[in-house]
Amino acid sequence: MITIRPIPAFNDNYIWHLHQDREHWVVDPGDAAPVIRSLDGQKLQGILLTHHHLDHTGGVQALKEKYDCEVFGPASIQGVTRPLQDGDRFSLFGYDCEVLAVPGHTLDHIAVVLNEDGTTHLFCGDTLFAAGCGRLFEGTPQQMHHSLSRLAALPEATKVYCAHEYTLANLAFAAAAEPENPDIQERTAAARAARAQNRPTLPSTIGTELRTNPFLRTGFPEIRAKAAAHAGDTLKTPVEIFASLRRWKDTF
Ligand SMILES: [Zn+2]
Repeated sequence: MITIRPIPAFNDNYIWHLHQDREHWVVDPGDAAPVIRSLDGQKLQGILLTHHHLDHTGGVQALKEKYDCEVFGPASIQGVTRPLQDGDRFSLFGYDCEVLAVPGHTLDHIAVVLNEDGTTHLFCGDTLFAAGCGRLFEGTPQQMHHSLSRLAALPEATKVYCAHEYTLANLAFAAAAEPENPDIQERTAAARAARAQNRPTLPSTIGTELRTNPFLRTGFPEIRAKAAAHAGDTLKTPVEIFASLRRWKDTF
């Protein structure tokens, strides 16, 4: 069984550390030092990267030099030894992994779905967050909406490993976008309790996101109405509603 735990880095990043037997991988190491501490003298076999931002890639060079490890990720990133693109499959810890292109936050962004026997794990970087989604730095609302739709279609039990602890701030926005949703209120209480004890609120699940994440709920009437009121316009398509929600969140 794979052990997966977060290594906190910077203010609110999580570098996910995957470990089984003597094999270790990390996802999005923005900083090498906390990874080296987490490995505690053991060797790193590989690095998985979701996108090019420095807070996800800043530790790659130092880790590669220290461990001579593999670097799987988008071809756009310097140091990648195994370029990944949509539809690629590879094996990690003997389990099947599938690559999904999820442009929007950046154009090179990928997500990796790891199928461990009966459990599905999703490493989604800055595309899907707990109760939120990444900012649109490079892509269009249409691209991001499509990317999130692909992730939302994964099995509800899929464990979601986001790259930042943004949950409480995202839930405050989710509550503004959908004040009558009791699942958001319940999740907020649970997240507050976790953070009060300095515990991560992650991983999430796709099922939890479908119930509480406004960016996956653009089809619900209450969200449509709130997004339209904020935009001061009638919004027709799910992409228009998504775009309005994202603009609203940018200044929330
Ligand atoms: Zn990013």
